[in-house]
Amino acid sequence: MSERVIPIISQPLGNLPIPVPSHVQAWTPGKQVLDQRNRPLRDLRISVTDRCNFRCSYCMPKEIFNNDYVYLPHSALLSFEEITRTAQSFIELGVEKIRLTGGEPLLRKNLEILIAQLAVLKTLTGQDLDITLTTNGSLLAKKAQALKSAGLKRVTVSLDGLDDVVFKQMNDVDFPVSDVLEGIQAAQAAGLGPIKVNMVVKRGTNEQEILPMARYFKGKGISLRFIEYMDVGATNGWRMNEVMPSADILQLLQTEMSLTALQASQPGETAERWGYLNEEGVLDEALGEIGFISSVTKAFCSDCNRARLTTEGQLYLCLFASQGYDLKPLVRGELDQSALTQAIADIWSHRDDRYSELRVSEPLAEQDATPSGGKRKVEMSYIGG
Ligand code: SAM
Ligand code: SF4
Ligand code: SF4
Repeated sequence: MSERVIPIISQPLGNLPIPVPSHVQAWTPGKQVLDQRNRPLRDLRISVTDRCNFRCSYCMPKEIFNNDYVYLPHSALLSFEEITRTAQSFIELGVEKIRLTGGEPLLRKNLEILIAQLAVLKTLTGQDLDITLTTNGSLLAKKAQALKSAGLKRVTVSLDGLDDVVFKQMNDVDFPVSDVLEGIQAAQAAGLGPIKVNMVVKRGTNEQEILPMARYFKGKGISLRFIEYMDVGATNGWRMNEVMPSADILQLLQTEMSLTALQASQPGETAERWGYLNEEGVLDEALGEIGFISSVTKAFCSDCNRARLTTEGQLYLCLFASQGYDLKPLVRGELDQSALTQAIADIWSHRDDRYSELRVSEPLAEQDATPSGGKRKVEMSYIGG
Protein backbone atom coordinates (compact mmCIF):
# COMPACT_ATOMS: atom_id res chain seq x y z
CA MET A 1 0.00 0.00 0.00
CA SER A 2 1.38 3.42 -0.91
CA GLU A 3 1.95 6.01 1.79
CA ARG A 4 -0.80 8.68 2.01
CA VAL A 5 0.25 12.30 1.63
CA ILE A 6 -2.04 14.80 3.34
CA PRO A 7 -0.84 18.30 2.48
CA ILE A 8 -1.68 21.09 4.89
CA ILE A 9 -3.40 23.52 2.55
CA SER A 10 -7.17 23.00 2.35
CA GLN A 11 -8.61 26.49 2.45
CA PRO A 12 -8.57 29.14 -0.26
CA LEU A 13 -5.79 31.69 -0.10
CA GLY A 14 -7.87 34.84 -0.02
CA ASN A 15 -9.42 36.95 -2.68
CA LEU A 16 -8.23 38.46 -5.87
CA PRO A 17 -9.01 42.11 -6.61
CA ILE A 18 -11.72 42.65 -9.20
CA PRO A 19 -9.84 43.76 -12.31
CA VAL A 20 -10.11 47.27 -13.63
CA PRO A 21 -11.91 47.16 -16.98
CA SER A 22 -9.48 47.13 -19.88
CA HIS A 23 -9.98 47.61 -23.57
CA VAL A 24 -8.79 44.10 -24.37
CA GLN A 25 -12.21 42.43 -24.27
CA ALA A 26 -14.71 45.16 -23.39
CA TRP A 27 -18.18 43.72 -22.80
CA THR A 28 -21.24 45.28 -24.42
CA PRO A 29 -24.52 44.89 -22.48
CA GLY A 30 -26.87 42.46 -24.20
CA LYS A 31 -23.93 40.57 -25.71
CA GLN A 32 -22.02 37.43 -24.74
CA VAL A 33 -18.92 38.17 -22.64
CA LEU A 34 -15.61 36.67 -23.86
CA ASP A 35 -12.39 36.02 -21.97
CA GLN A 36 -8.79 36.60 -23.07
CA ARG A 37 -8.89 33.37 -25.07
CA ASN A 38 -12.22 34.23 -26.70
CA ARG A 39 -14.06 31.72 -24.55
CA PRO A 40 -17.70 32.60 -23.81
CA LEU A 41 -19.26 32.26 -20.35
CA ARG A 42 -22.05 29.69 -20.77
CA ASP A 43 -22.05 27.39 -17.78
CA LEU A 44 -22.34 28.44 -14.13
CA ARG A 45 -21.82 25.91 -11.36
CA ILE A 46 -23.23 27.02 -8.05
CA SER A 47 -22.18 25.32 -4.85
CA VAL A 48 -25.04 25.50 -2.36
CA THR A 49 -23.28 23.86 0.59
CA ASP A 50 -19.74 22.89 1.63
CA ARG A 51 -21.09 19.94 3.64
CA CYS A 52 -21.55 16.35 2.57
CA ASN A 53 -22.82 13.10 4.08
CA PHE A 54 -20.15 11.09 2.15
CA ARG A 55 -16.40 11.10 2.68
CA CYS A 56 -15.15 10.08 -0.76
CA SER A 57 -11.41 9.67 -0.37
CA TYR A 58 -10.74 11.62 -3.58
CA CYS A 59 -12.78 14.62 -2.43
CA MET A 60 -13.41 14.88 1.34
CA PRO A 61 -11.03 12.41 3.01
CA LYS A 62 -12.03 11.54 6.57
CA GLU A 63 -8.62 12.47 7.95
CA ILE A 64 -9.28 16.12 7.07
CA PHE A 65 -13.07 16.38 7.01
CA ASN A 66 -13.51 15.01 10.52
CA ASN A 67 -15.36 16.31 13.59
CA ASP A 68 -12.81 19.11 14.00
CA TYR A 69 -13.28 20.46 10.50
CA VAL A 70 -14.83 23.91 10.50
CA TYR A 71 -17.54 24.35 7.87
CA LEU A 72 -18.94 27.71 6.81
CA PRO A 73 -21.42 29.22 9.26
CA HIS A 74 -24.94 29.70 7.93
CA SER A 75 -24.51 33.50 7.95
CA ALA A 76 -21.65 33.18 5.45
CA LEU A 77 -23.76 31.34 2.86
CA LEU A 78 -25.40 33.24 0.06
CA SER A 79 -29.15 33.20 0.59
CA PHE A 80 -31.41 31.88 -2.20
CA GLU A 81 -32.28 35.48 -3.12
CA GLU A 82 -28.58 36.38 -3.32
CA ILE A 83 -27.81 33.32 -5.44
CA THR A 84 -30.67 34.16 -7.80
CA ARG A 85 -29.54 37.76 -8.09
CA THR A 86 -26.01 36.67 -8.89
CA ALA A 87 -27.30 34.10 -11.39
CA GLN A 88 -29.30 36.85 -13.11
CA SER A 89 -26.07 38.79 -13.74
CA PHE A 90 -24.34 35.71 -15.10
CA ILE A 91 -27.27 35.13 -17.44
CA GLU A 92 -26.97 38.70 -18.73
CA LEU A 93 -23.40 37.77 -19.70
CA GLY A 94 -24.46 34.69 -21.67
CA VAL A 95 -24.89 31.84 -19.18
CA GLU A 96 -27.40 29.28 -20.45
CA LYS A 97 -26.85 26.41 -18.08
CA ILE A 98 -26.76 26.32 -14.29
CA ARG A 99 -25.58 23.31 -12.34
CA LEU A 100 -26.24 23.14 -8.60
CA THR A 101 -23.55 21.29 -6.74
CA GLY A 102 -21.57 21.21 -3.50
CA GLY A 103 -20.73 19.41 -1.14
CA GLU A 104 -23.94 17.51 -1.40
CA PRO A 105 -26.52 19.96 -2.79
CA LEU A 106 -29.53 17.99 -1.52
CA LEU A 107 -28.37 18.69 2.04
CA ARG A 108 -29.24 22.37 1.57
CA LYS A 109 -32.65 22.86 3.16
CA ASN A 110 -35.53 23.81 0.85
CA LEU A 111 -33.40 23.63 -2.29
CA GLU A 112 -36.61 23.42 -4.33
CA ILE A 113 -37.27 27.08 -3.46
CA LEU A 114 -33.98 28.11 -5.08
CA ILE A 115 -34.72 25.96 -8.13
CA ALA A 116 -38.13 27.58 -8.52
CA GLN A 117 -36.52 31.03 -8.35
CA LEU A 118 -33.91 30.13 -10.97
CA ALA A 119 -36.43 28.39 -13.22
CA VAL A 120 -38.20 31.65 -14.12
CA LEU A 121 -35.00 33.32 -15.40
CA LYS A 122 -34.53 33.50 -19.18
CA THR A 123 -31.29 33.37 -21.17
CA LEU A 124 -30.01 36.25 -23.33
CA THR A 125 -31.94 34.77 -26.24
CA GLY A 126 -35.14 34.39 -24.20
CA GLN A 127 -34.89 30.61 -23.74
CA ASP A 128 -35.52 28.66 -20.54
CA LEU A 129 -32.39 28.04 -18.50
CA ASP A 130 -31.00 24.52 -18.49
CA ILE A 131 -31.01 23.79 -14.74
CA THR A 132 -29.34 20.65 -13.55
CA LEU A 133 -27.85 19.24 -10.36
CA THR A 134 -25.03 16.89 -9.42
CA THR A 135 -25.73 14.66 -6.44
CA ASN A 136 -24.39 11.59 -4.70
CA GLY A 137 -27.95 10.25 -4.97
CA SER A 138 -28.37 9.49 -1.28
CA LEU A 139 -31.44 11.71 -0.87
CA LEU A 140 -32.70 11.56 -4.43
CA ALA A 141 -35.41 8.93 -3.94
CA LYS A 142 -37.02 11.22 -1.38
CA LYS A 143 -36.59 14.47 -3.31
CA ALA A 144 -36.78 13.71 -7.04
CA GLN A 145 -40.44 14.58 -7.54
CA ALA A 146 -40.25 17.87 -5.59
CA LEU A 147 -37.13 18.89 -7.53
CA LYS A 148 -38.86 18.20 -10.83
CA SER A 149 -41.98 20.10 -9.80
CA ALA A 150 -39.82 23.09 -8.83
CA GLY A 151 -38.34 23.27 -12.35
CA LEU A 152 -35.20 21.13 -12.27
CA LYS A 153 -34.60 19.69 -15.75
CA ARG A 154 -32.04 16.94 -15.23
CA VAL A 155 -29.73 15.31 -12.68
CA THR A 156 -26.26 13.83 -12.73
CA VAL A 157 -25.72 11.13 -10.12
CA SER A 158 -22.27 10.11 -8.90
CA LEU A 159 -21.79 6.38 -8.39
CA ASP A 160 -18.38 4.76 -8.25
CA GLY A 161 -19.31 1.09 -8.44
CA LEU A 162 -22.03 -1.53 -8.12
CA ASP A 163 -20.32 -3.74 -5.60
CA ASP A 164 -21.17 -2.66 -2.04
CA VAL A 165 -17.70 -3.39 -0.68
CA VAL A 166 -16.03 -1.26 -3.36
CA PHE A 167 -18.63 1.52 -3.19
CA LYS A 168 -18.38 1.74 0.57
CA GLN A 169 -14.62 1.93 0.23
CA MET A 170 -15.11 4.92 -2.09
CA ASN A 171 -17.79 6.78 -0.07
CA ASP A 172 -16.19 5.84 3.27
CA VAL A 173 -19.47 6.16 5.22
CA ASP A 174 -20.86 2.67 4.61
CA PHE A 175 -23.49 3.92 2.17
CA PRO A 176 -25.11 1.10 0.13
CA VAL A 177 -25.34 1.01 -3.67
CA SER A 178 -29.03 0.04 -3.60
CA ASP A 179 -30.10 3.41 -2.16
CA VAL A 180 -28.33 5.30 -4.95
CA LEU A 181 -29.89 3.04 -7.60
CA GLU A 182 -33.28 3.70 -6.02
CA GLY A 183 -32.56 7.44 -6.31
CA ILE A 184 -31.70 7.06 -10.00
CA GLN A 185 -34.94 5.16 -10.62
CA ALA A 186 -36.95 7.83 -8.79
CA ALA A 187 -35.28 10.55 -10.87
CA GLN A 188 -36.14 8.65 -14.07
CA ALA A 189 -39.73 8.19 -12.94
CA ALA A 190 -39.98 11.91 -12.13
CA GLY A 191 -38.74 12.80 -15.65
CA LEU A 192 -35.39 14.27 -14.56
CA GLY A 193 -33.70 12.94 -17.68
CA PRO A 194 -31.62 12.32 -19.62
CA ILE A 195 -29.78 11.17 -16.52
CA LYS A 196 -26.01 11.05 -16.37
CA VAL A 197 -24.11 8.81 -13.99
CA ASN A 198 -20.56 9.86 -13.09
CA MET A 199 -18.01 7.28 -12.02
CA VAL A 200 -14.61 8.47 -10.80
CA VAL A 201 -12.12 5.72 -11.56
CA LYS A 202 -9.29 5.29 -9.10
CA ARG A 203 -6.79 2.72 -10.28
CA GLY A 204 -6.30 0.03 -7.70
CA THR A 205 -9.60 0.81 -5.95
CA ASN A 206 -12.62 0.59 -8.27
CA GLU A 207 -11.37 -0.17 -11.79
CA GLN A 208 -12.92 -3.67 -11.55
CA GLU A 209 -16.32 -1.93 -11.48
CA ILE A 210 -15.96 -0.40 -14.97
CA LEU A 211 -17.42 -3.33 -16.93
CA PRO A 212 -20.21 -4.15 -14.43
CA MET A 213 -21.27 -0.47 -14.45
CA ALA A 214 -21.33 -0.36 -18.27
CA ARG A 215 -23.30 -3.63 -18.45
CA TYR A 216 -25.80 -2.40 -15.85
CA PHE A 217 -26.52 1.01 -17.41
CA LYS A 218 -26.51 -0.14 -21.06
CA GLY A 219 -30.09 -0.06 -22.36
CA LYS A 220 -31.41 2.09 -19.52
CA GLY A 221 -31.29 5.40 -21.46
CA ILE A 222 -28.58 6.69 -19.14
CA SER A 223 -25.27 8.23 -20.04
CA LEU A 224 -22.48 6.65 -17.99
CA ARG A 225 -19.42 8.88 -17.76
CA PHE A 226 -16.01 7.79 -16.57
CA ILE A 227 -14.03 10.54 -14.86
CA GLU A 228 -10.29 10.47 -14.53
CA TYR A 229 -9.30 10.91 -10.90
CA MET A 230 -8.13 14.52 -10.80
CA ASP A 231 -5.48 16.40 -8.85
CA VAL A 232 -8.13 18.83 -7.70
CA GLY A 233 -7.91 20.17 -4.14
CA ALA A 234 -5.00 19.56 -1.81
CA THR A 235 -6.23 16.96 0.66
CA ASN A 236 -6.76 13.80 -1.36
CA GLY A 237 -3.09 12.80 -1.68
CA TRP A 238 -3.50 12.50 -5.45
CA ARG A 239 -0.93 10.45 -7.33
CA MET A 240 -0.62 10.01 -11.08
CA ASN A 241 -0.32 6.23 -10.72
CA GLU A 242 -3.89 6.15 -9.34
CA VAL A 243 -5.26 7.73 -12.52
CA MET A 244 -6.72 5.31 -15.04
CA PRO A 245 -6.52 7.10 -18.41
CA SER A 246 -9.74 7.21 -20.43
CA ALA A 247 -7.94 5.48 -23.31
CA ASP A 248 -7.37 2.43 -21.07
CA ILE A 249 -11.01 2.43 -19.94
CA LEU A 250 -12.21 2.59 -23.54
CA GLN A 251 -9.94 -0.29 -24.48
CA LEU A 252 -11.33 -2.36 -21.61
CA LEU A 253 -14.94 -1.61 -22.61
CA GLN A 254 -14.22 -2.54 -26.21
CA THR A 255 -13.23 -6.05 -25.16
CA GLU A 256 -16.96 -6.76 -24.88
CA MET A 257 -18.93 -3.83 -26.32
CA SER A 258 -19.10 -2.27 -29.78
CA LEU A 259 -18.80 1.48 -29.42
CA THR A 260 -18.62 4.35 -31.86
CA ALA A 261 -17.42 7.92 -31.25
CA LEU A 262 -20.19 10.55 -31.31
CA GLN A 263 -19.93 14.22 -32.30
CA ALA A 264 -19.87 16.75 -29.45
CA SER A 265 -23.41 18.07 -29.07
CA GLN A 266 -22.23 21.50 -27.96
CA PRO A 267 -18.98 23.46 -27.74
CA GLY A 268 -17.24 23.25 -24.37
CA GLU A 269 -18.69 19.80 -23.63
CA THR A 270 -16.55 18.17 -20.95
CA ALA A 271 -17.15 14.57 -21.98
CA GLU A 272 -16.11 12.74 -25.14
CA ARG A 273 -19.20 10.74 -26.04
CA TRP A 274 -19.49 7.23 -27.45
CA GLY A 275 -22.61 5.37 -28.54
CA TYR A 276 -23.42 1.63 -28.67
CA LEU A 277 -23.66 -0.25 -31.96
CA ASN A 278 -26.38 -2.87 -32.26
CA GLU A 279 -25.88 -6.36 -33.72
CA GLU A 280 -26.10 -4.94 -37.26
CA GLY A 281 -23.30 -2.50 -36.45
CA VAL A 282 -25.66 0.50 -36.45
CA LEU A 283 -25.71 3.17 -33.73
CA ASP A 284 -28.56 2.45 -31.31
CA GLU A 285 -29.33 5.55 -29.25
CA ALA A 286 -31.81 3.67 -27.09
CA LEU A 287 -28.90 1.76 -25.55
CA GLY A 288 -27.59 4.96 -23.94
CA GLU A 289 -24.13 6.46 -24.06
CA ILE A 290 -20.68 6.24 -22.57
CA GLY A 291 -18.72 9.42 -21.83
CA PHE A 292 -15.13 10.09 -20.86
CA ILE A 293 -14.04 13.10 -18.85
CA SER A 294 -10.30 13.10 -19.35
CA SER A 295 -9.27 16.08 -17.28
CA VAL A 296 -5.82 14.63 -16.67
CA THR A 297 -4.81 13.04 -19.96
CA LYS A 298 -6.59 15.33 -22.41
CA ALA A 299 -6.85 19.02 -21.53
CA PHE A 300 -10.06 20.68 -22.68
CA CYS A 301 -9.22 24.22 -21.58
CA SER A 302 -9.39 25.71 -25.08
CA ASP A 303 -13.18 25.83 -25.00
CA CYS A 304 -13.77 25.88 -21.24
CA ASN A 305 -16.83 28.06 -20.69
CA ARG A 306 -17.48 27.30 -17.01
CA ALA A 307 -17.46 29.57 -13.97
CA ARG A 308 -17.93 28.43 -10.38
CA LEU A 309 -19.68 30.27 -7.59
CA THR A 310 -18.92 28.99 -4.09
CA THR A 311 -21.40 28.72 -1.24
CA GLU A 312 -20.18 32.00 0.23
CA GLY A 313 -20.13 33.93 -3.05
CA GLN A 314 -16.59 33.53 -4.33
CA LEU A 315 -16.20 33.35 -8.08
CA TYR A 316 -13.62 30.85 -9.35
CA LEU A 317 -12.60 30.81 -13.00
CA CYS A 318 -10.91 27.42 -12.98
CA LEU A 319 -11.39 24.20 -11.05
CA PHE A 320 -7.71 24.27 -10.17
CA ALA A 321 -7.52 27.89 -9.03
CA SER A 322 -6.14 28.80 -5.63
CA GLN A 323 -7.95 32.13 -5.33
CA GLY A 324 -11.35 33.47 -6.20
CA TYR A 325 -13.09 36.83 -6.50
CA ASP A 326 -15.33 37.75 -3.60
CA LEU A 327 -18.70 38.75 -5.05
CA LYS A 328 -20.53 38.69 -1.70
CA PRO A 329 -19.94 42.36 -0.82
CA LEU A 330 -21.29 43.29 -4.26
CA VAL A 331 -24.29 41.01 -3.97
CA ARG A 332 -25.10 42.04 -0.37
CA GLY A 333 -24.24 45.70 -0.86
CA GLU A 334 -25.99 48.63 -2.39
CA LEU A 335 -24.80 48.01 -5.94
CA ASP A 336 -27.54 47.72 -8.53
CA GLN A 337 -27.86 44.69 -10.79
CA SER A 338 -26.05 46.29 -13.72
CA ALA A 339 -23.00 47.13 -11.56
CA LEU A 340 -22.83 43.51 -10.37
CA THR A 341 -23.07 42.31 -13.98
CA GLN A 342 -20.33 44.73 -15.03
CA ALA A 343 -18.03 43.53 -12.22
CA ILE A 344 -18.46 39.89 -13.32
CA ALA A 345 -17.91 40.93 -16.95
CA ASP A 346 -14.63 42.61 -15.93
CA ILE A 347 -13.49 39.46 -14.13
CA TRP A 348 -14.38 37.13 -17.01
CA SER A 349 -12.85 39.48 -19.61
CA HIS A 350 -9.49 39.14 -17.86
CA ARG A 351 -9.65 35.36 -17.53
CA ASP A 352 -6.73 33.44 -18.96
CA ASP A 353 -6.88 30.14 -16.99
CA ARG A 354 -5.83 26.86 -18.60
CA TYR A 355 -4.44 24.75 -15.81
CA SER A 356 -4.85 21.33 -17.46
CA GLU A 357 -3.03 22.48 -20.58
CA LEU A 358 -0.14 23.79 -18.51
CA ARG A 359 0.04 21.21 -15.71
CA VAL A 360 2.75 19.22 -17.40
CA SER A 361 4.50 21.85 -19.46
CA GLU A 362 5.12 24.81 -17.15
CA PRO A 363 6.78 25.15 -13.74
CA LEU A 364 4.65 26.71 -10.98
CA ALA A 365 5.06 30.29 -9.80
CA GLU A 366 6.36 30.43 -6.21
CA GLN A 367 3.09 31.78 -4.71
CA ASP A 368 1.17 28.94 -6.35
CA ALA A 369 3.32 26.12 -4.99
CA THR A 370 2.83 24.13 -1.78
CA PRO A 371 5.82 23.20 0.43
CA SER A 372 5.85 19.77 -1.25
CA GLY A 373 6.02 21.31 -4.72
CA GLY A 374 2.38 20.77 -5.76
CA LYS A 375 0.03 23.57 -6.74
CA ARG A 376 -2.12 25.26 -4.08
CA LYS A 377 -5.72 24.58 -5.04
CA VAL A 378 -9.11 25.03 -3.57
CA GLU A 379 -11.10 21.95 -2.48
CA MET A 380 -13.67 20.43 -4.85
CA SER A 381 -16.26 20.26 -2.03
CA TYR A 382 -15.87 24.04 -1.53
CA ILE A 383 -15.81 25.14 -5.14
CA GLY A 384 -18.33 22.61 -6.46
CA GLY A 385 -17.58 20.00 -9.14
N1 SAM B 1 -21.76 15.58 -3.88
C1 SAM B 1 -22.15 15.64 -5.23
C2 SAM B 1 -21.65 14.43 -5.98
O1 SAM B 1 -20.78 13.73 -5.51
O2 SAM B 1 -22.15 14.22 -7.09
C3 SAM B 1 -21.76 16.91 -5.95
C4 SAM B 1 -20.41 17.48 -5.66
S1 SAM B 1 -19.02 16.53 -6.19
C5 SAM B 1 -17.69 17.54 -5.71
C6 SAM B 1 -19.13 16.70 -7.97
C7 SAM B 1 -18.40 15.67 -8.77
O3 SAM B 1 -17.02 15.81 -8.57
C8 SAM B 1 -18.74 14.24 -8.45
O4 SAM B 1 -19.15 13.57 -9.63
C9 SAM B 1 -17.44 13.67 -7.93
O5 SAM B 1 -17.31 12.32 -8.24
C10 SAM B 1 -16.43 14.54 -8.65
N2 SAM B 1 -15.11 14.58 -8.00
C11 SAM B 1 -14.82 14.97 -6.74
N3 SAM B 1 -13.50 14.88 -6.50
C12 SAM B 1 -12.93 14.42 -7.65
C13 SAM B 1 -11.59 14.11 -8.06
N4 SAM B 1 -10.55 14.25 -7.25
N5 SAM B 1 -11.39 13.68 -9.33
C14 SAM B 1 -12.43 13.54 -10.18
N6 SAM B 1 -13.70 13.82 -9.87
C15 SAM B 1 -13.96 14.25 -8.61
FE1 SF4 C 1 -19.41 14.37 -1.12
FE2 SF4 C 1 -19.63 14.49 -3.73
FE3 SF4 C 1 -17.29 14.99 -2.57
FE4 SF4 C 1 -18.21 12.51 -2.53
S1 SF4 C 1 -17.65 13.69 -4.35
S2 SF4 C 1 -17.38 13.62 -0.78
S3 SF4 C 1 -20.39 12.83 -2.41
S4 SF4 C 1 -19.10 16.20 -2.37
FE1 SF4 D 1 -11.42 24.87 -17.45
FE2 SF4 D 1 -9.48 25.11 -15.65
FE3 SF4 D 1 -10.42 22.69 -16.27
FE4 SF4 D 1 -8.93 24.06 -18.04
S1 SF4 D 1 -8.25 23.27 -16.07
S2 SF4 D 1 -10.84 22.94 -18.47
S3 SF4 D 1 -9.60 26.16 -17.61
S4 SF4 D 1 -11.58 24.36 -15.28
